[in-house]
Amino acid sequence: MLLTITTRHTPATDLGYLLHKHPAKVQEVEFGKGKAHIFYPVANEQECTCALLLDIDPVGLVRTNGGASGNQFALEQYVNDRPYVASSLMSTAIVKAFSSAMNGKCKDKPELVDVPFPLEIKLSVLPVRGGETMLFRMFDPLGYIVDATQHPLDTQFPEWGDSRYFTVTLKHTITLKALLSHLFILIPVLDNDKHYWVNREEVEKLLAKGKGWLEDHPEKELITRRYLRHQPSLANDALALLMKDDIPEELMTDGIAVEKPKAGLHETRLQSVCDELLSTPVRSVIDLGCGEGKLLKLLIPHQHLTHITGMDVASRSLEIAYRRLKIDKLPDNQRKRLRLIQGSLTYRDRRIEGFDAAALVEVIEHLEPDRLKALEKCVFGYAMPGKVIVTTPNKEWNVTFTEDTDKMRHSDHRFEWTRAEFQQWCELVSSTYGYAYTIKPLGEETAEIGAPTQMAVFTK
Ligand code: SAH
Repeated sequence: MLLTITTRHTPATDLGYLLHKHPAKVQEVEFGKGKAHIFYPVANEQECTCALLLDIDPVGLVRTNGGASGNQFALEQYVNDRPYVASSLMSTAIVKAFSSAMNGKCKDKPELVDVPFPLEIKLSVLPVRGGETMLFRMFDPLGYIVDATQHPLDTQFPEWGDSRYFTVTLKHTITLKALLSHLFILIPVLDNDKHYWVNREEVEKLLAKGKGWLEDHPEKELITRRYLRHQPSLANDALALLMKDDIPEELMTDGIAVEKPKAGLHETRLQSVCDELLSTPVRSVIDLGCGEGKLLKLLIPHQHLTHITGMDVASRSLEIAYRRLKIDKLPDNQRKRLRLIQGSLTYRDRRIEGFDAAALVEVIEHLEPDRLKALEKCVFGYAMPGKVIVTTPNKEWNVTFTEDTDKMRHSDHRFEWTRAEFQQWCELVSSTYGYAYTIKPLGEETAEIGAPTQMAVFTK
């Protein structure tokens, strides 16, 4: 398995300083499952290529794994692709071979560490679960130009179709340190597998190597779940740390609120949602994306509600909710009515099923538009509450505080909709999942720009 990194920066041999590997020498690093050879097929002023060649010991792999990695068939531990593809073994080798470069250290030319170099990276065989689009979803947002060739399963039998193996070239002008951290995380994410058992330390590794880019990556959720091998509790913890700014402007103590919140706007919004929820005889309510529990606080006094649940992806918000609602001080009969759960609205979760009503107050605009479909499916398709209340900012109203039509109300909002756009979305949800809906303005309304917030009430 071969990875090459090429630069045409002048002098190109600066690459050797950055990687802490002399271009004239062939070096070898042992890393438990085999050896990594590091050498330079080309090294001159104009062009320099460093190659990392992995020589995996297939028997060693079986011995140390005990064949534990989800055997599909009896011989899988002996007959598999691992020695021939870029996988988590490559990430381990990158860390071993280029640890100084990854940590941003360069003994002889420290000034190079922060210099973006024109780099071209070639991965001879990269297994990708999810096809070419997955490759683009991962590398495109980071600014790479991606060129990929997919290999057929067997050239003798074209009718068998394509394999999941790609030869990939990536081009970008970027610091070497950033490149190595991208490869370290994204290679096993694309492969969607790991050669070792994932534990809590992996969360720290992910956050450390993802620092400075993963927080803003539109696929951070998918990357996190795949990197942590779909272990929900680890992934939720990591996501909570990555999304720690996804807190509403009114509740924020340390984030960046673009809109100076009008006093009481959020309280009015929540009271209207509470009234709407209780306008029909519901007994169980779930607040999806409950944040710090403000809506829950309004719901608790209504004793006819037997089950009140708050769900959020951010554990920090849930901790605040726990304190704000004084859950530990509630008498048993009250505490039994109340639950706080951590989870993501873009993955099916049976704990959110079976409620009479659900609220999503200022939540949808925090999701990447292409993750919204997943949320719709989880909420309207799987959880299927009898009533769903969704609120979101009305973009047209933003003229009251800014002239910049692209400006959003909060730095974490991924989109804001006009009234027509919101209605279009409601129409789509209603026809896809068989809900009726009405839209109501929240806050003071004027004919030209509408109200600050728009609310849809979906009923089954
Ligand atoms: N509904 C609350 C908080 C709104 S802020 C209120 O009105 O006070 C948006 C909330 O959505 C945040 O708490 C954030 O953590 C949560 N959130 C964002 N993406 C989420 C997801 N995928 N799953 C669950 N919660 C999410």
